[in-house]
Amino acid sequence: MKKGSDRFMALIVQKFGGTSVADAQRIANVADIVTQAYRAGNDVIAVVSAQGDTTDDLEAKGREIDPSPSRREMDVLVAAGEQISAALLSMAIQRMGFPAVSLLGWQVGLETTSAHGEARIRRVREDRIRKELDQRRIVVVAGFQGIDRSGDVTTIGRGGSDTSAVAIAAAMHADLCQIYTDVDGVYTADPRKVPGARKLDTISYDEMLELATLGAQVLHNRSVEMAKKYNIQLEVLSSLTRKPGTIVKEKRNMEKMLISSVTKDENSARISVIGVPDRPGLAFKIFSCLAAKGVNVDVILQSIGRNGTKDISFTVTTDKMEEAIGLLQEHLETWGATSIVSDENVAKVSIVGAGMETHPGVAAQMFEALFGENINIQMISTSEIKVTVLVNKKDADLAVRAIHEKFFGAD
Ligand code: ADP
Ligand code: ASP
Ligand code: MG
Repeated sequence: MKKGSDRFMALIVQKFGGTSVADAQRIANVADIVTQAYRAGNDVIAVVSAQGDTTDDLEAKGREIDPSPSRREMDVLVAAGEQISAALLSMAIQRMGFPAVSLLGWQVGLETTSAHGEARIRRVREDRIRKELDQRRIVVVAGFQGIDRSGDVTTIGRGGSDTSAVAIAAAMHADLCQIYTDVDGVYTADPRKVPGARKLDTISYDEMLELATLGAQVLHNRSVEMAKKYNIQLEVLSSLTRKPGTIVKEKRNMEKMLISSVTKDENSARISVIGVPDRPGLAFKIFSCLAAKGVNVDVILQSIGRNGTKDISFTVTTDKMEEAIGLLQEHLETWGATSIVSDENVAKVSIVGAGMETHPGVAAQMFEALFGENINIQMISTSEIKVTVLVNKKDADLAVRAIHEKFFGAD
């Protein structure tokens, strides 16, 4: 916090998602939020996403030319979405009579790895943004995009503008990072799917990280990871209602809730290697062959050996399924396994909550809710603060609602 001549000035990063900047009227609304913070004496950095469905539309345009386009060119193409939003918001702010400047990823020195489409942020240079803030300008930064060591434009993964905002907040030592979106906080379940879902006042970094990783798209999971690492307080709130949102921080207030939220992830596929010899070393071979090619494995289940063989099942993200099967096929004979079976019609349904650590029986309650709807559980995985089950995709929404009702009651 910097001390101004007659007041305390804070540095605030405000991130606005696609719905918040979808059209001219929404941009005017965002300009109003930004300038309000500025008029209160704060330094303000606004980070913007592409308007509405622009990123999807740009991707589709690319695939129209080439169904499997160069990842480098795809990044050049989709980064255009955030460039448009940044320019438009800056213009809207200027039109209101305030000084603003739009900056792209490369201009703010947001340096990333070269993994186009899923680049990792290495650092954000401070100097350019600082120079603009020192002149009392509102800085509008294009989210989602960066630059690699060879000077090429990169993007950091779908939903990544949240992470751009947190990375900038960390580099600039911001006092607060606000994530403005189309819901007014983090809820006990996706409020668009579960009408009785309730808003949480606070949630811990660890819970939020699990939630984001397990499918709640309200925050990009890497943004939460980074916020925790650099101790950046996040607030998730709506640009439309302007009510207080949900604070993500180290420890949430101990309003004793067993679980915080229920979520689902349909981007999962199950693969089973059948008839694996029941000997030491086979699991190692199977998973190292996938790891060597960067295929991440999630929930794992191994059956008890019977007649000298066992089955090993696990989940991967849907886009990695074909690759994983191909890799396993290559070695199947050497391992002495029988066959590979896969299923894309699955979904992960999870509960997350720090309260689980101290309360036994939470998983049993979740399973009871599923039993009540006659939903079959294919796999289970747990950690201290989450329980995940794999179910048939067609059952996923019902599973979320039933579990939500069990823990939070009807509305
Ligand atoms: P933005 O474009 O602002 O980044 P996103 O679409 O990425 O917004 O994320 C907001 C959406 O996340 C909401 O519209 C909501 O449907 C969804 N969502 C999923 N789970 C939750 C949850 N537990 N709490 C709030 N929103 C959730
Ligand atoms: N525009 C990008 C996307 O749609 C990044 C973001 O919105 O966070 O994924
Ligand atoms: Mg998002």
